[in-house]
Amino acid sequence: MAEQYASIIIDISHESVDRVFQYRVPEELLGQVRIGMQVCVPFGFGNRSRKGYVVELSEQPDYDPEKIKTILSLVNGSVTADTRLIELAWWMKEQYGSTMNQALKTVLPVKRQIKARNKQVVQSLLGKEPAKIRYGRVALNQEQQNIVTDFKEQYDKGERRPSLIHGITGSGKTEVYMELIDHVLQNDRQVIVLIPEISLTYQTVMRFYRRFGEKICVMHSRLAAGERYDQFERARQGKTQVMIGARSALFTPFPKLGLIIMDEEHEGAYKSETTPRYHAREVAQKLAQMNDAAFVMGSATPSLEAYSRAKAGIYKLYTLGSRAVFGSLPPSTELVDMRREMEEGNKSIFSRRLQELIGDKLSKGEQTMLFINRRGYSTFVSCRSCGQAVKCPHCDVTLTLHNRTRLVCHYCGYTISMPKHCPECASPYLAGFGTGTQKIQEMAEKLFPEARILRMDLDTTSKKGGHEAILSAFSKGEADILIGTQMIVKGHDFPGVTLVGVLAADISLYAPDYRSAEQTFELLVQAAGRAGRGEKPGTALIQTYVPEHYSIQAAVSQDYEAFYSQEMGYRKLMAYPPSCHMMTMQVAGKDEELVNHMMDVIARSVAARFQNQAAFIGPVPAPVYKVNDIYRKILYMKQENYDILIRIQKYVQNRWDETESCKRLTIQYDFS
Ligand code: ADP
Ligand code: ZN
Ligand code: ZN
Repeated sequence: MAEQYASIIIDISHESVDRVFQYRVPEELLGQVRIGMQVCVPFGFGNRSRKGYVVELSEQPDYDPEKIKTILSLVNGSVTADTRLIELAWWMKEQYGSTMNQALKTVLPVKRQIKARNKQVVQSLLGKEPAKIRYGRVALNQEQQNIVTDFKEQYDKGERRPSLIHGITGSGKTEVYMELIDHVLQNDRQVIVLIPEISLTYQTVMRFYRRFGEKICVMHSRLAAGERYDQFERARQGKTQVMIGARSALFTPFPKLGLIIMDEEHEGAYKSETTPRYHAREVAQKLAQMNDAAFVMGSATPSLEAYSRAKAGIYKLYTLGSRAVFGSLPPSTELVDMRREMEEGNKSIFSRRLQELIGDKLSKGEQTMLFINRRGYSTFVSCRSCGQAVKCPHCDVTLTLHNRTRLVCHYCGYTISMPKHCPECASPYLAGFGTGTQKIQEMAEKLFPEARILRMDLDTTSKKGGHEAILSAFSKGEADILIGTQMIVKGHDFPGVTLVGVLAADISLYAPDYRSAEQTFELLVQAAGRAGRGEKPGTALIQTYVPEHYSIQAAVSQDYEAFYSQEMGYRKLMAYPPSCHMMTMQVAGKDEELVNHMMDVIARSVAARFQNQAAFIGPVPAPVYKVNDIYRKILYMKQENYDILIRIQKYVQNRWDETESCKRLTIQYDFS
């Protein structure tokens, strides 16, 4: 057998990844040393024996082989939580086309000395003395009970097929999760609960806290690095059993992980935006498999990826078809064709029906939520004389108007005060276009002067705690109307809300993304799902200019199956995921000419080498070509077989990543 060299890190933290030491694998251990294993190595001047983890293996030494020391021994029983994290990093590197260093930095915690006790962290989110909170539990209904019973039976038998709970909004998925968690805890194993950051609110955490008390730990992005490290340490030492958090909670080093729950499985935030660009669904599935743990996803609007797997039997499918609160019914949904409103002389963005319904709710003392769909949409400023919109000088996007005083670039943060004259032609006639939440608030105030109105958007929530303060005020009935964007529809439970108005349902349909219909459907169903969660029935009113579009039709009838079959037909026709896999390769750099040239060179080489093995689209400029003065070109590749895409990725990586011409460029890969 050939020589073998192992890269070792001595302690398990993000920082240590930049201090990797290479050792020779001794002859007697050839073939036995694997990624993630713990080994003893001679370390430092005195060559004292220290334990380290193997993070990479290679047949080539990185420097003079004469100077490379040799591994002393394998550590017995050395499979730990960290072993599995390192193995997971290896899998992520292979699966998503990153370096091992990037993958390790994703899975290992940042080490800091600041300490924070769990109690403080939970308390900062809860804002109350935890001891006063009582333990709570509801009696499950039949549908919920069936899922719990079946899960327990499968779990005890060691059946580990992932499962998907397709449950309408308010059907009681969270109560089901808590029963499953309970079962796994009783088996002395630990649980990771993934909740999208935006839904990780006081309300949600409180529910888990009531049930599991000090066993839970919360990981959210507002924690300092030291606090996160501390949370992970507590998990490693068995002081906490349930980690609740966004995407990165996946990397909790539990000694005996037994279950991963992924709520709101369809959420876009589960996909990482930095290399390795992993999807938490896929990583969770792999992690569960490595730990012999169960994996349960839940959503009212499952992603096409998850639902198609459930249909194919790869996931087990559970359904919750009715609302959990006794007497609560799914909202009745109405559609308003805004073209007709216009024809009939109503130019307001509030249809006559919506005005009538809001008036009715106000008179009854019930609450209304007004949701403006703003995905891929903003209030920009343009010149009435020359027609130019005011753009960011560093990015290919228009600047967004905030509070009528500032213009902000949502890509790079560039901010200027609202100019008095057009930067192009000096005309004084500059005006804001598009309808933001602030404008809607003003209009609502005019129409309903007696109403108490709250608004939730970037401007009102940028202060620390602003988000929670608004939600809590609305929840206590301190306002009649809450106006907001995506932020208000995710996972909040306001029993007093009986009307949800969706002002511009179709805007997200025009996003330059094959998922735009799915995102539109999902937003509408989730928004409508906010209505009538208490005992009084709710109404959702959807205003649109394209009432005939299937995503809007299916949302109005709350018919997931109808949407799924139409949308899947489209994906198959166009060979888009999940009917096919897609790799997006992006070349980016400051030198526009170089970016274009290298992208062409790479694209030509890949096309020649993998001619009939994948479909190639492009190269084309990225949807936003310039961001922060960096130019970006992309090449799309489609193929049913993921492995072939990986082969192409490796080819590009090996051939170009280290070359002189690519030094000033970055090449990124994204798989879907
Ligand atoms: P989902 O997560 O599916 O949106 P939740 O678990 O948040 O649903 O439940 C919606 C509401 O119904 C919550 O207020 C919850 O306390 C309540 N609920 C859930 N299950 C039951 C039950 N079996 N009996 C009574 N209320 C329930
Ligand atoms: Zn002008
Ligand atoms: Zn910018």
